[in-house]
Amino acid sequence: VAPGQSTAPAVLIHGGAGPLGPRLRDHEAEITLVLNEVLAGARDALERGTDALSVAIRCVEQLEDCELFNAGLGSALCADGTVEMSAAAMRGSDRAAGAVAGVRTVRNPIRAAELILGGDQVLLIGPAADRHAREHGIATQPNDAFVTRRARARLALGTGSEDLTHGTVGAVCLDAAGLLAAATSTGGISGQPPGRVGDSPLIGAGTWADDRVAVSCTGDGEAFIRAGAAARIAGLVDAGRPLAQAAAAALDEVGRLGGRGGLIAVDAGGEPALQLSSEAMPRGCWSAGNEPVVRVSA
Ligand code: ASP
Repeated sequence: VAPGQSTAPAVLIHGGAGPLGPRLRDHEAEITLVLNEVLAGARDALERGTDALSVAIRCVEQLEDCELFNAGLGSALCADGTVEMSAAAMRGSDRAAGAVAGVRTVRNPIRAAELILGGDQVLLIGPAADRHAREHGIATQPNDAFVTRRARARLALGTGSEDLTHGTVGAVCLDAAGLLAAATSTGGISGQPPGRVGDSPLIGAGTWADDRVAVSCTGDGEAFIRAGAAARIAGLVDAGRPLAQAAAAALDEVGRLGGRGGLIAVDAGGEPALQLSSEAMPRGCWSAGNEPVVRVSA
């Protein structure tokens, strides 16, 4: 399918890659329910002709609002017990991109990223990004309000309970007009030093969309950054490699750098790809003509 040619829509979502520990085992039914709801909403929107970027952002916003995921309201805590969140969105047709890193008060960081996507910059960080969002009418709340009981428990459990330290949410989407988009949002890694930024808000590392492919990654952020993971997939697809092969190659490179994780991707033909080197990754997939599929573990 030529880029931009009208086609059958598709959407994939993820709720973060990591070990299959208590977060996923104890809440599997709830997580499955949320993923199904998000997917159903995306399907409706795509069937009504909503554009890929709006749908991807809405999916991520809904996942940010669910405390079971490490993003928005469910964000992991930094070592100092505060929350720092990051998010990115990218539209494939013109490669417009927007991202925020280290925001502390934006209720839905993906909405702050969307706001930036509409302007001249690509990435805003820290208090200035919070202020920019607030001044443009994006909902904010005190940092304390993000410090949920679950996030406290996560910090107390430490890195020994690794499935509670990872998370991240993301969506990739192909709309009925044949256009692609990706969105990713994260609370980072539990116990991370304040100021640490992972791959999620970095265009080409954790998030990417062009006119051939859209990608959202999750996992050991440093390795995904050093692998240039999302842009690597785009480069391989551009060079003619099938999407599944390109996704596997990128995750291999992440592995060579000592990282694990997962990713979702979709190409301009509606071909979905899902790659995982961690034990589990809550995810969902719907493409036109097929029933939605939701899975939590591998
Ligand atoms: N990739 C995210 C980060 O490094 C974390 C995750 O996906 O679990 O911030």
